[in-house]
Amino acid sequence: MGKTSKDKRDIYYRLAKEEGWRARSAFKLLQIDDEFSIFQGVTRAVDLCAAPGSWSQVLSRKLRENDEKAKIVAVDLQPMAHLDGVIQLRGDITEVSTAQEIISHFDGEYAQLVVCDGAPDVTGLHSLDEYMQSQLLLAAFNISTHVLSQHGTFVAKIFRARNASLLYAQMRKFFKHVSCAKPKSSRQSSCEAFIVCQDYCPPEGYVPTMKNILFEEDYETAVSSLIGCNRVVIPFVACGDLSGWDSDRVYPLDTTTLDPTQQRYVNRDVVAPPTEPPYKLACELKKSGKLNLTSLEGSLMAVPSRAQRK
Ligand code: SAM
Repeated sequence: MGKTSKDKRDIYYRLAKEEGWRARSAFKLLQIDDEFSIFQGVTRAVDLCAAPGSWSQVLSRKLRENDEKAKIVAVDLQPMAHLDGVIQLRGDITEVSTAQEIISHFDGEYAQLVVCDGAPDVTGLHSLDEYMQSQLLLAAFNISTHVLSQHGTFVAKIFRARNASLLYAQMRKFFKHVSCAKPKSSRQSSCEAFIVCQDYCPPEGYVPTMKNILFEEDYETAVSSLIGCNRVVIPFVACGDLSGWDSDRVYPLDTTTLDPTQQRYVNRDVVAPPTEPPYKLACELKKSGKLNLTSLEGSLMAVPSRAQRK
């Protein structure tokens, strides 16, 4: 899809480039903060699944505005271009070694905020995608139990699907306030939302673990057992200026900031192109005029898989 049609299609994509954010998702975190003030008093934060880095940009700008020594640790499987004030780690959030590496950067202190916008590669099979998303959320939660201070805040992407009520109930055992936030910049057509968990207070004697002890394998049974006081109803909160931009609408290009000299919309390049995109090899082969299926197949055989790279 060409640059122009994508620019036309999505108002937040365009605004992100105009305001210098690496991804449109920056607005989701900003709108969550508008509603829940999650950055208030925070000087140590962790951004899980951070690449290409728009949430880390938001954290860096907002936290360092109040305290330039604020510490932000960002983790992703993918490499990410440098960001001032952000310690970047390349790692898998499902591994305990990643939790340990994060902690090592806090010099014995704990983070007051952990955010996770993680998303596994989508397969298109809804049940599998939902399951993978909930597993990633639990991995993020498990890491948080290692690094989050008492009364801290945890925000993570969640799919509003079958098993969401079980996740809400489980999070309520660890946090005093749990809400489901739908920022204005998250398309209504998407089941994506964000679980905002505030005031971390784990059950007495709880020992942080990386095992998914919360999510029972047979979650059908677990969900149906959520009756009476075991079932929690959490607030659903729409965030962002509701009279503002609508992420599901298509806006004509001329409604955004125009270049005053040209009086027409000027396309902008992306703020930070991916450092090692999966299509890098194809681009290189194309540049050298060697892109054909046989060369690509041969070369791809030589590219190590993620597991082999470890
Ligand atoms: N919040 C980011 C931003 O604003 O730029 C966008 C995050 S992107 C939607 C999802 C990221 O999750 C991808 O970069 C992907 O590499 C990462 N991810 C998925 N599974 C992961 C895992 N197990 N460990 C670390 N990162 C993971």
